[in-house]
Amino acid sequence: MRLRRLLAALAVLLAVCRAQAGLAAPQAMVAAAHPLAVEAGLEMLRRGGTAVDAAIAVQMVLGVVEPHASGIGGGGFLLHYDGTTHAIAVYDGRETAPAGATPTMFLDSNGKPLGFRPAVVSGISVGVPGVLAMLELAHKDYGKLAWRDLFAPAIAVARDGFAVPPRLAAWLSRIPGLREEPGIRTVYFNADGLPRKAGERIANPELAETMRLIADQGARAFYQGPIAAEMVERVRGHVRPGTLALADLADYRPIKREALCGPYRVWVVCGMPPPSSGGIAILQVLGLLEPFEIWRDTPNDLRSIHLIAEASRLAFADRDRYVADPAFVQVPTAGLLSPAYLAERRKLMSPDRSMGKVGPGVPPGYVERGTSHMSIVDRWGNAVAFTTTIEAPFGAQIMVRGFLLNNELTDFSPTPEADGKPVANRVEPGKRPRSSMSPTLVLDRDGRLVAALGSAGGARIIGDTLQTLIGMLDWDLPVSAAIALPRVINANGATELEAGTPLTGLADGLRGLGHQVQVRGHEGGLTGIRRVGDGWEGSADPRRDGVARGE
Ligand code: GLU
Repeated sequence: MRLRRLLAALAVLLAVCRAQAGLAAPQAMVAAAHPLAVEAGLEMLRRGGTAVDAAIAVQMVLGVVEPHASGIGGGGFLLHYDGTTHAIAVYDGRETAPAGATPTMFLDSNGKPLGFRPAVVSGISVGVPGVLAMLELAHKDYGKLAWRDLFAPAIAVARDGFAVPPRLAAWLSRIPGLREEPGIRTVYFNADGLPRKAGERIANPELAETMRLIADQGARAFYQGPIAAEMVERVRGHVRPGTLALADLADYRPIKREALCGPYRVWVVCGMPPPSSGGIAILQVLGLLEPFEIWRDTPNDLRSIHLIAEASRLAFADRDRYVADPAFVQVPTAGLLSPAYLAERRKLMSPDRSMGKVGPGVPPGYVERGTSHMSIVDRWGNAVAFTTTIEAPFGAQIMVRGFLLNNELTDFSPTPEADGKPVANRVEPGKRPRSSMSPTLVLDRDGRLVAALGSAGGARIIGDTLQTLIGMLDWDLPVSAAIALPRVINANGATELEAGTPLTGLADGLRGLGHQVQVRGHEGGLTGIRRVGDGWEGSADPRRDGVARGE
């Protein structure tokens, strides 16, 4: 209660200071994982560009300064809100498995899943990159500035150099074997083989040249020709080779999908449909929680944290059973979100006791068969929530012409069968691996945009995004406080509490309710923007290097 009052008082104080200083709330805003990327986005908005124009400029700079997290060698999902029509467009730029992929490719000769490193650091894990084709499509639909101009800030940063950001420096010293990849060694290590330190200036001229080609010729320059040929050569020539072929690259297509929207109290929450599991899980958890009225609780108290963990548990049990690429598996999305089904599943929840590990439900309509996030609003009220990834830090650790190839195919289930039944998320040629990325837009019941948000961090993205929504919508916290909320995560196992936060004080209380508790560090990676009055407030996760700036 005390924290809530304090935060509310701070928010009022801030509003008063702003009013006295004559500062209106910003009319346009960019929140992303690095200040140079945010500046590139703002530059596009100042020049009359749209949220999509800004998003492309932001992505290109992120690929230079946050190369371990996202880039043109990866994939992503982008939600676009049209400020005039209030329509939401959903772009799926998820990587696909090459035509040569097989359901058993992540198993060793004894039929056991490959270890983490052999699976990730390999040609096997590389999916056909999707982010560039997706951005080109979104630009055709909603861009105003010329495609080539969107690359100028990133080309300048890659060519002229930048100070190594703290997070990049941390990853460089943390990941064993990185320097074995010649491209990575040249750019991110010094002549003695030591990783570059935070603040040291580095450049990536090869990436500048790659981006110049794409700026001049469009995404075609990436999916065909010499860049494509080099990607294929590197994946096939790896000590653990993959099957990526020129035809896989030439055939890649981004997909436009319907947003997955559902009611929560007085809002409509819109998220990413399959192949992401994020939208379904977030709407399930909110639906399960609604009758418990956790908005009456103070942030971080035992009851609400317990209930959030329990609802997440139920959502993850269903996720693991049902959610995969809808082109290959019939996902019972409507059933999983139907009020009757959620009411049935809610019976397993008790405020007094954890249910422990839980199995999936049987939703109606089910037939038995088988990261960096950016949030942007422009002056017209268009908005973008865009999560972009190469999967593990530094992806497959294969660098082609200055950019890193993803290891997204490790998001598939390594084993094709469980309990004698095919696993929904098994590898199949051309299939998109299940994701947790959860770009999210919140609307009021009149269709006006209330917030845009999302996060990085694998399956924890779902809990991150969910808790930030709860912080903003139920506890009425400013977006910065909602993003900073200490994390509770439950993926249908132990309840994780974020180390070094007051939440760890709930460990005994949660154990008393039957939870197995784990205290662990949390990477985070949220960015969010929320309407305040007639403008916007924004924030980026204090756990990373990002910022939000408006004008
Ligand atoms: N590959 C993950 C997914 O799509 C995201 C990885 C991350 O955020 O670190 O679910």
